[in-house]
Amino acid sequence: MGVRVLYIEDDPASRKLVERTLTHAGYHVVTAERGLEGIDVARSQEPDLILVDINLPDISGREVTTVLRRDERFADTPIVALTAQTLTEQRELALAAGVSGYLTKPLNVEALPDQVRFYLDGGRDHIDTKTLRGAQTRYAQDLVVKLEARIRDLETVNAELQRLDKMKDTFIQLTAHELRTPFTLVQGYNRLMEDNPRFRDLLRADGDLRLLVEGMTHAIDRMNSIIDEILTISRIMTNRIDLSVGPTDLGNVVVKVLKGYLPALQERRLSVHFNKAEWPERMLADWELMELTMSNLISNAIKYTPDDGQITLRAQVQDKQVWFSVKDTGIGIDTQAQTIIFERFNTMHDTELHSTSKTAFRGGGIGLGLALCKGIIEAHGGRIWVESSGYDPDRCPGSEFLVMMPLIANQSTM
Ligand code: ADP
Repeated sequence: MGVRVLYIEDDPASRKLVERTLTHAGYHVVTAERGLEGIDVARSQEPDLILVDINLPDISGREVTTVLRRDERFADTPIVALTAQTLTEQRELALAAGVSGYLTKPLNVEALPDQVRFYLDGGRDHIDTKTLRGAQTRYAQDLVVKLEARIRDLETVNAELQRLDKMKDTFIQLTAHELRTPFTLVQGYNRLMEDNPRFRDLLRADGDLRLLVEGMTHAIDRMNSIIDEILTISRIMTNRIDLSVGPTDLGNVVVKVLKGYLPALQERRLSVHFNKAEWPERMLADWELMELTMSNLISNAIKYTPDDGQITLRAQVQDKQVWFSVKDTGIGIDTQAQTIIFERFNTMHDTELHSTSKTAFRGGGIGLGLALCKGIIEAHGGRIWVESSGYDPDRCPGSEFLVMMPLIANQSTM
């Protein structure tokens, strides 16, 4: 490939003109419309010469030059500034930023190929040292002023984002609360119906009706746990979680959770490896929240592991810490997604795939489970992370969720 020229210019007409002229003269021309885009193109294509307009919409041509000159690949690349201003000050500032020379706009199209050749052959525009020093100081001052303005803008935007984030939390919380009231009524009526002897007789006599009622009860339970999850997560996220710390037998917590999932484990033919003796009998933690954590980790292991897989639960006490993990032989997790899955409402795959079941393969979930686990473990002064070699539903590399937390919950982190 011939000599490559990168032209960074936001005006389409100039871009076209220069591109046509230089291509005609035998150069290979690549273009970019913005400063940051130009830097990216320069890094990926490593052109032999860069023509850069001074006034660009994002960062100026001078700043593009400063960034590129820091990269040793561009230490000697001719960078030529195009400036519409005939002010000498503009030229000096460009030279202070490290350009090899400048051309004034409108460009003299006929002279352009020769001018490009001049810089490619090592030509440079001169500026005397004293003027250069003054220009460098002014350029540095300009940059700092610009930086200050950007930081102030970002602070304003950040404050606004935080306000919106808080509004969203409040909205979620209010919605969950509002749903809870009519929902408690639905649950109550359902219970009254189930407890009614005449209705029970009906159910015994009619298998179809029994199935309908079972389906409804199941959906009510599921809805209940979703509302609970949302309320707990919004408490955790707004730092209003009160740990109710007490003696907690973590092994027993696991036993209880596993019992709840026994039907699902059997139906899906998943084997569980668990040795209660490894698990601490005495720790100071919030029993209920630890149960919620184990329940989420285990239900995820069930959900994301195909039938006939294995789930391994291990624990070890070291000094004043407990380490435990839930490992599965499931579909695994993309390495890049391994931190974002702990964020709220983050589900890695198409939510359309989700069914309403908490245990069907790849079913259920609105992406709150792991955010809850993280909030709970961190509230106890611990940390949670995942290890998996990647997402591969065919090979099933598996995932392991690991937790490290103090045996005595550190409430001062609240
Ligand atoms: P969800 O309700 O979607 O299960 P979670 O917060 O529990 O929400 O999990 C977030 C995402 O992390 C899931 O959608 C899934 O993509 C991924 N994930 C969680 N646990 C596992 C696991 N054991 N194996 C594979 N992927 C998992």
